[in-house]
Amino acid sequence: MVVQTQRDEVTWYECEACGLMFDDRDDASQHESDCDGEDPSYIQ
Ligand SMILES: [Zn+2]
Repeated sequence: MVVQTQRDEVTWYECEACGLMFDDRDDASQHESDCDGEDPSYIQ
């Protein structure tokens, strides 16, 4: 899931699964659909 965060007055969109951050909501949404953040090999 993508969470919206505010940092230095800039809105970021963070992929909750893997922690990647995007400055564009559409980029985040597209990443989310591809995200494999729950893959243990990636987390480790
Ligand atoms: Zn992700």
